[in-house]
Amino acid sequence: MIRQILAKNVLSRVAGVDTYFGLDYGMNLYRGCQHHCIYCDSRSKCYGNDRFDDDVLVKTNAVDLLAKELRAKRRKGVVGTGSMNDPYMPLEERVGLTRAALEVLAGYGFGVHVVTKSDLVLRDIPLLQRIARTSTAAVSLTLTTLDDELARRIEPGAPPASSRLRALAELSAAGIEARVALMPVLPFLEDAWDNVSAIVREAHRRGVRTVIPWFGMSLRDRQRTYYYRKLDELFPGLREQYEKAYGNGYMCPSPRAAALRASFETMCTHLGVRTSVRPRLAPSAEEPELFG
Ligand code: SF4
Repeated sequence: MIRQILAKNVLSRVAGVDTYFGLDYGMNLYRGCQHHCIYCDSRSKCYGNDRFDDDVLVKTNAVDLLAKELRAKRRKGVVGTGSMNDPYMPLEERVGLTRAALEVLAGYGFGVHVVTKSDLVLRDIPLLQRIARTSTAAVSLTLTTLDDELARRIEPGAPPASSRLRALAELSAAGIEARVALMPVLPFLEDAWDNVSAIVREAHRRGVRTVIPWFGMSLRDRQRTYYYRKLDELFPGLREQYEKAYGNGYMCPSPRAAALRASFETMCTHLGVRTSVRPRLAPSAEEPELFG
């Protein structure tokens, strides 16, 4: 069910130094996600969203709040969106919160980094180009397999992997920095070098010059329960492999993580692809946590 709510805030300061995406702030315009990825960490109890797979909440006052919160900032930075929900889930096409937020970011001179699995982001290329004139405007497409059938099983509500590849090419052609978020690489399903190297190669062919990997996944409480239930449905026998390898552990690196990382770094160095992002704004002692 889609419901409307009034939020108290939409922006949060990123604690410490964000080595994955170089973010200074995080922004959530929705709560819940229509992509229903079977591995999604947002199901974890610590986020307090008991109805993650049932409801998507639209923060109807998000754009006004964002403008107010940005006005209060003493220094500009890069605002990330796409960690707890996908800002380009199908709903965005008619609600348009992400597009309106990009207009606000452009108006206040802030940068943006979008993580998404959807080619709907292409709709907002003109806005991203406007932001890029004064700051960072980068889009990371999450891509962990090139197999559309596997992607459909693990990310049932998201566009196919092939359309994400096309989106990377169109973003690059439009002068927007297109990256790949190669994460999470699911153990025993996606952690073959053939898969990883094909993603890097195909992304590079489409103009991608930054690929950020994580050769593993996290699993905890109800997220683990949900993931294991889906493994039983979709990949019979695999749950037992996970239980044997990880027990109740939270961090679940691929058994091949070290070898994958070494080969990945060699390949990316050869192609001139960056594998990490330097933060643009160091944490400041002057600016206290403004938004809780
Ligand atoms: S797109 Fe991201 S937030 Fe949405 S279900 Fe998938 S992993 Fe979770």
